[in-house]
Amino acid sequence: MTNLTQHPERTADRVEHTLAAIWRGGDDIALEAVPVPPLGPGDVLVRVRLATICGSDRHTVSGRRVQPCPSVLGHETVGEIVAFGTEGAGGAGGAGKVRAVDGRELRIGLRVIWSVTLPCGACDRCLAGITAKCRSLRKAGHEAWDSDWRLSGGYAQHVLLPRGMPIAIVGDALTDALAAPAACATATVMAVAERAPRLAGKRVVVVGAGMLGLTAVAAAASAGASSVTAVDPAAERRELARQFGATDVRQTMPDTGPYDVLLEFSGSSAALQEGLRTLDVQGVAVLAGAVLPDAPVAVGPESVVRRHLSIVGVHNYEPRHLTAALDFLEETRDRFPWHELVAEPVPLEEIGSLLISSPGTKPRYAITAY
Ligand SMILES: [Zn+2]
Ligand SMILES: [Zn+2]
Repeated sequence: MTNLTQHPERTADRVEHTLAAIWRGGDDIALEAVPVPPLGPGDVLVRVRLATICGSDRHTVSGRRVQPCPSVLGHETVGEIVAFGTEGAGGAGGAGKVRAVDGRELRIGLRVIWSVTLPCGACDRCLAGITAKCRSLRKAGHEAWDSDWRLSGGYAQHVLLPRGMPIAIVGDALTDALAAPAACATATVMAVAERAPRLAGKRVVVVGAGMLGLTAVAAAASAGASSVTAVDPAAERRELARQFGATDVRQTMPDTGPYDVLLEFSGSSAALQEGLRTLDVQGVAVLAGAVLPDAPVAVGPESVVRRHLSIVGVHNYEPRHLTAALDFLEETRDRFPWHELVAEPVPLEEIGSLLISSPGTKPRYAITAY
C-alpha cells in the first residue's frame, strides 16, 4: 500500500483514511491504509483507543470458527467519537440526535463502547425485543471486507458504527482496559445472569474461569450467592476465581453439589454432562460457552421432570446489557482486581502475533491504535 502513515490523513474534520488490520485467512493479517467511506445519517465514526482480544477471534484465525474473510476482526473496543454522519443525526431531515442506549445524547469526544450485534430494528424478532437473534443481524468485527460495512472491527484506527448500532458511554471511573471487555464478555455475562434465577442465596457453580467465567463468578458473589464454586483445569484461573469471589474452586466438575444454578462458559459437553447431575430441585443451567460443535449431552427427561430442571441458552445480548456491564464494572472496580485480567496493551501493529500465538495466560490481551 502507498501512503502507509502512522496516523490517518485528515482533511478539515473529515477523516479520509485509516489503518486497519485486515485478516485474509490463516495467519495473514496485515495493516493496510484504507479509505474511510462517507458517513450516512445516523452513522458514527470512532477513533479506536484500545481493543481487547476475545477468544473467539483466536478461534477464527486458527480455523476453528468460520466467519467472513477477508475482514477486520475485533469486537471488544473502546473508542472516542470523532464524527457523525450527515447533520449528526438519525432520521429524515436530521430529526433527533444520535443517542446512547441509555438515552443520553452522543457528542464528539465521548468515550464509548458498542454492541457486538447490529440489529435491523424492523424484523419480528427485533420488534419482539430479541434483537440478539435479529433475522438480518450484522456483527461488529465479523463483516466481510467486500460488504457495505468494511470498518466493522476494532483492530483498526477507526471503526464505523452504522445507524442503529447500540452505543454506551464509558464513565470516567473506568479505564479503557476495564471498559473494552464490557462489549462482549461482561455484557454477555449480564445477559446470562438475567436468564438465571435471582442469584442471592443460591448455590452457584461456574464452569470455565476465562474472562466470562471470572466475570460470572464476580456477578454471583456481588449478587449475594450463598456459595460460588468455580471449575477450571488451569491453576492460575482457579486462583483468579478466588480473587473474584469464588468460595470454592475445583479442577474438574465436582460430583458433590447440589447446586441451584449452573453457569456454563467452558463449552465442554463433558463438563456440562457432569454439571447437570449436580443440580438440585428447581435447578437452572444457563449455557453460554458452547459456541463450537461438541459431543451431544445425554439428558434423562425423567430427571428433568422430577427435579424441575431448566436448561436455557444465551447467545449475544441486548443493548441494555451494555449499560448493565459498564454499571457492574463501575460498582465492583474496587472490590475485584479487574485490571489483572487484561495485559498491558501493545501497538496495533502487533495484532497478528497476538491472534496467532498465545502470548501467555492472561484472559485478555490488548492493542492500542495510536
Ligand atoms: Zn467475543
Ligand atoms: Zn431484526
